[in-house]
Order: sequence, then structure tokens, then C-alpha cells
Amino acid sequence: IVTTTEVRELLISLADFYEEKKEELSSYDAVIGDGDHGMTLARGFAAGKEAIENIAAEDAGIYFKMFGRNLMGAMGGAIGPLFGSIFTELGKTCMGKKEIGLKEFTDGFEQALLKIMDLGGAVPGDKTMVDALEPAAAELKKSKEEGVSLLEGMKNAVTAAKRGMKETVSMEAKRGRSQYLREKSVGHQDAGATSTYFLFNKISDFIS
Ligand code: ADP
Ligand code: MG
Ligand code: MG
Repeated sequence: IVTTTEVRELLISLADFYEEKKEELSSYDAVIGDGDHGMTLARGFAAGKEAIENIAAEDAGIYFKMFGRNLMGAMGGAIGPLFGSIFTELGKTCMGKKEIGLKEFTDGFEQALLKIMDLGGAVPGDKTMVDALEPAAAELKKSKEEGVSLLEGMKNAVTAAKRGMKETVSMEAKRGRSQYLREKSVGHQDAGATSTYFLFNKISDFIS
């Protein structure tokens, strides 16, 4: 279980983490994109952090929602609403709740996946963040049904996201900037799938 204050701590720690990872994440995007993914995420997460740093919210949903909205606005472009949906959808499933467990994380990530696929039109196999998010969300759902702990469920999601991220290497990009490279995009790992795997990894670390 993650409490409301811990959700706030988690979100702030995510912002600090993406700040540290910005060069690494941009380096993936530099090969088959325009090299800004890490910078864009760091800017978005910093705005999310700033929005929640000086408030004391009643429940976890408010922190997720405020964080997501500000992250989206600061990231901008197409990726802003896509990545931001993770937090705004978690905001919806956590609204009014002071303790967040595997159920809330599972429902939030499932809704985020649907939203991202709807907004961006990507399906698994298109070499995008969906390739890390989809298997992770499926693994969360399976873990929830099996009734395992939040930590165990999240660890399962990390394993699935990592596998999905690695699978993007052999894919040909069908969405975003890399799609114009066609077969030249093959052999390189997708930046968004990498940052999405990092997200699950960081949440899991925070819980443990
Ligand atoms: P931009 O391409 O505008 O510079 P970023 O570099 O921040 O944005 O993000 C690039 C990442 O966005 C890609 O690596 C990919 O994972 C993800 N992405 C691009 N298009 C889509 C889409 N339609 N659906 C889901 N994810 C996408
Ligand atoms: Mg880019
Ligand atoms: Mg760009």
C-alpha cells in the first residue's frame, strides 16, 4: 500500500530520476528520432513536481491528476498527452483514495494504455511506448487476479516492460518520427519504450 503522502514523494522522486536520466533517454531518441525525449520528459516531470511540491492534497488522486496535467502542458507536442495520460488516468482511478494498492495501479495503467492507444493510434508492435506499457499492464492485471502483493505485482510488471522494451529493437517503427526511417529504424531501441520501462522500475524501487 502506498499512502497519499507517499504518492507525493514517489512523484517527486520520479522527477528527480528523469532529470538524472535525460541524456541517456535523449541518446536513444537521437538515433531514430530528434534526440529530445530525455529533455522533454525532464521538463515535463519538473513541472509536475513543481505543481505538487507546495500543496497538501486530501487524497492520492489529486496528486496524480495535478502532476499529470502540468506534465502534459510542459512536455507539449504529441508525447505530452500520451505520457501525461499515465498520471491523469491514475488520478481518476485514485480519486478520493488515501491508500493505493495493486488494484488502483492496475486500473490506472490499464486505462492509460487504452487512452494512449486511442490518442496516438499505436498498437503493440509499432515500436513505441505502447510496447513496454501493454505487457506491463497485462502483467499487473494477471497479478491482481492472482492476489499477489503490490510489490510482487509491480516487479512482474517491470520484467514484462523490460522484455517489451527490448523487443522494440527488432521492430520497424510505424508511429512517431522514426516511422519515416522505415527499415532503418530496425536494430535500435525505442526511446519511449525505454522511459516507460524506467517508470515501472522506479515505482517498484520506491515500493520496496
Ligand atoms: P517527439 O517525437 O515529438 O520528439 P519524444 O522524443 O519526446 O517526442 O518521444 C518520442 C517517443 O514517443 C517515441 O520513442 C515513441 O515511444 C513515442 N511515440 C511516438 N508516437 C507515438 C504514438 N503515436 N503512440 C505512442 N507513442 C508514441
Ligand atoms: Mg524526440
Ligand atoms: Mg521532438
